[in-house]
Amino acid sequence: GGAARTPFIAGNWKMNLDHLQAVAFVQKLQWTLKDAKHEDGSVEVGIFPPFTDIRTVQTLIDADKIPFSLGGQDLSTKDSGAYTGEVSGQFLAKLDCRYVIIGHSERREYHQESDEIVAAKVQAALRYGLVPVICVGETADDLEEFGASAVPVGQLRVALEGVPADADIVVAYEPVWAIGSGKAATPDQAQDVCAKLRAVVGESLGADAAARTRVLYGGSVKSANIASFMREPDVDGALVGGASLVVDEFAAIIRFQK
Ligand code: PGA
Repeated sequence: GGAARTPFIAGNWKMNLDHLQAVAFVQKLQWTLKDAKHEDGSVEVGIFPPFTDIRTVQTLIDADKIPFSLGGQDLSTKDSGAYTGEVSGQFLAKLDCRYVIIGHSERREYHQESDEIVAAKVQAALRYGLVPVICVGETADDLEEFGASAVPVGQLRVALEGVPADADIVVAYEPVWAIGSGKAATPDQAQDVCAKLRAVVGESLGADAAARTRVLYGGSVKSANIASFMREPDVDGALVGGASLVVDEFAAIIRFQK
């Protein structure tokens, strides 16, 4: 990652850990990380629990002064009203969430989230001061047909339409074929696409935004490969699924050494 950008290790729990399991997990993780470098702010740790856990985790990290950032895994395009089952960015912000994941490939696939819906969710996040973690990535078919970067570059262009130049955003490059497959992209592949995504941030929001925005890699990140990704100049962190649910693995990822 770039020297000026604080590395960001984000744990996407997906639909795992109920609120009681979440308490045990966060306590164990914090205990395991005692004296790790996230305590001095040189790495930012984010956790993204299911909605029903957020209040509980917020209370715990607040009471014990645990230096983790909190985020939701999704939000509504709407602010409030008759939208059964939806959760507003306003509610996440009130629970001290700093981040919200938007456009994860599982949302795109199982909930038919189009690039336009993703863009509307980015706007909804920004309305409440949440930092959108905008996920983009190509499927295995896309990879064969268009190569690695065309689809994620196109997805990001749409997601950034109308985003102001001074907005705080995070971009996550997650090749769909690498998610949960145990088959991570190579550091070279990740670097290549992350650099292209940073260039899109530059075209859309300007050079300052391109220099400051963190671009993460996600897809089968584990303790054994994190350092190789973090050595790449345009990879500023990782969005971690499966390995974020295993205390020792996630702690080892946070303690990565380049
Ligand atoms: P994985 O998931 O680490 O289990 O591959 C990554 C993600 O979907 O964010």
